[in-house]
Amino acid sequence: MGEEGNTVVPGEPVGVIEEYLAGKNVYVDAENSVLRSKIIGLLLRDNVKHVVEVDPVKEPRLLSKGDVVYGYLDGVRETIAFVKIMLIEKGGEKGVPHGILLLRPYSGILPASNISSDPVRNIFNVYSYGDVLRAYVSEEGGPPYVLSTRGREYGVVLARCPHCMSILRKKGNYLVCPYCGSRVRKKASIYYLVK
Ligand SMILES: [Zn+2]
Repeated sequence: MGEEGNTVVPGEPVGVIEEYLAGKNVYVDAENSVLRSKIIGLLLRDNVKHVVEVDPVKEPRLLSKGDVVYGYLDGVRETIAFVKIMLIEKGGEKGVPHGILLLRPYSGILPASNISSDPVRNIFNVYSYGDVLRAYVSEEGGPPYVLSTRGREYGVVLARCPHCMSILRKKGNYLVCPYCGSRVRKKASIYYLVK
């Protein structure tokens, strides 16, 4: 019998008819007095209402709180940014992008309150569309995963010049364009990739 929160497959017993009613995606196998799942999904048991149901798996849950990821910003608003997670940093040297490359990116969200230990009122002041970030998962649950870039190790690791699109280099507290000379201030990680 599948356990609460486990993934179950079609036909797998998920409860007995004396104890539970069939909820979403569950059918009654009267002959054997059991309830079975109709689909691949996550088993949920409500022990108050005595209902068992199976939630379809849309995107397998891959990330947990504390996991370090790389992704790029594909949407920026004043108080929230949207991140496409491309890589999970696992093992090896910190700040060197390596690990599990995702063929289909995972969705992440970055609230303004998670950007820095200093208050950020407007995300446009610290990040831009297309910036590549090193971030960590700050809450259980998702997708979308809630990300944070608080701390010196996290923030932008690669960004382009807003004027000529060249890759910016990190010089002290600024990101500087080697071609047009623009200086941009961002919440950059100590692991910024181009110095
Ligand atoms: Zn430039």
